[in-house]
Amino acid sequence: MTPSSPVIEKRNRTRSEEAFAAARQVLPGGVNSPVRAFRSVGGNPVFMDKAKGAYLWDIDDNQYIDYVGTWGPAILGHAHPQVIRRIQAVAESGTSFGAPTLMETEMGQLVIDLVPSIEKVRFVNSGTEAVMSAIRLARAYTGRSKIIKFEGCYHGHSDYLLVKAGSGAATHGVPDSAGVPASTASETMNAHFNDLESVEALLKACPEQVAAILIEPVAGNMGCVPPEPGFLEGLRRLADESGACLIFDEVMTGFRVALGGAQQRYGVTPDITCLGKIIGGGLPVGAYGGKQEIMAQVAPDGPMYQAGTLSGNPLAMAAGLETLKLLQAPGVYERLEVISTHLGDGLAAICHKKGIPHTAHRVGAMMTLFFTEGPVKAYNDVCRFDRERFNRFFWGMLDQGIYLAPSQFEASFFSLAHTDEDIERTLAAAERAIS
Ligand SMILES: *Cc1c(COP(=O)(O)O)cnc(C)c1O
Repeated sequence: MTPSSPVIEKRNRTRSEEAFAAARQVLPGGVNSPVRAFRSVGGNPVFMDKAKGAYLWDIDDNQYIDYVGTWGPAILGHAHPQVIRRIQAVAESGTSFGAPTLMETEMGQLVIDLVPSIEKVRFVNSGTEAVMSAIRLARAYTGRSKIIKFEGCYHGHSDYLLVKAGSGAATHGVPDSAGVPASTASETMNAHFNDLESVEALLKACPEQVAAILIEPVAGNMGCVPPEPGFLEGLRRLADESGACLIFDEVMTGFRVALGGAQQRYGVTPDITCLGKIIGGGLPVGAYGGKQEIMAQVAPDGPMYQAGTLSGNPLAMAAGLETLKLLQAPGVYERLEVISTHLGDGLAAICHKKGIPHTAHRVGAMMTLFFTEGPVKAYNDVCRFDRERFNRFFWGMLDQGIYLAPSQFEASFFSLAHTDEDIERTLAAAERAIS
């Protein structure tokens, strides 16, 4: 055995194993969202008991430094005392009214102030709902039906977005999921991330039929893949020339890569923006917003119907408001950048030293270490990753108390609760787990 490949002792996860067996009798795959099942890394998930700051504890009393952050929302760290206090206080006055409340206007104004492209906003309950509604809005506004999205980008589980390109002519989408009608999928076309020509070709093939160009401005759902210089600007130009709406799905990047999201970081203004995750401070919230003129389509002002019994829910608004307030403190995004650089550069250095092919991408408080030679600019590049090596890394880290997303097609998320010492511990674990 060489010093670079020490044996990492397996942790006791007996109670998680038992809990998963019981859950599988009740829930499909034992989970309420598929990626939680750890299928892609070939093992069983860990059942969590509590979370505080940068840490998670499982039901076998193992402690973890958390880089999943409940898939994005936990940018302040888990269970921030101010957020919890606000939720508790608001709950005392009732958990839902189905009538307007002052907090919805306050929260709406805050989102308008913080996100450059948003002049009016509608709150919903999830990212899926936000993107689904934004697409309906773009269709209502343009009177067109086709959508261009990008291979490897995820926009929630609505029918017409669960589609990736068929080989060759990508003008007719093929559904990724059973239960999606081919007729629905055929309205969705896939382009390649960081490839403007692929977008241009689709627009040319369907003149005056494209309602929206929909993109994660920094891709996060194929791992973290940043836009190349000029790419987002090029999409803005193509949308203007073709009369399509440019929709930024900032459900992941909003309030994460900058306070005003990727649109602020890169200085490109979309027509419609989708938000989720951080905006709910750990409770279920999504939002979509944009120019006044476009938002005027939304009911009851306009003819595009969209509604929600629990939309603008007081507990969710309270958690979101408190979270967005705390994120406005000076130095927040500088600190997140410091953590991200420390970890990203540290992981890359370990791979470099060991001669392991890798590409480390990071943008603000999100990053991915890809186990593949660069460049990684699009989904096809990500797909070349070394699966065995990633799985070894994932389990090696888990057994050393580092909780990463169980897939190479995900980003790691940092929070303000992660200390320099947490990062040092993570790098020390990676030194052993990367082989
Ligand atoms: C998570 C995510 C969604 C879906 O949000 P849910 O709240 O899970 O429905 C949509 N778009 C992007 C970019 C996301 O990361």
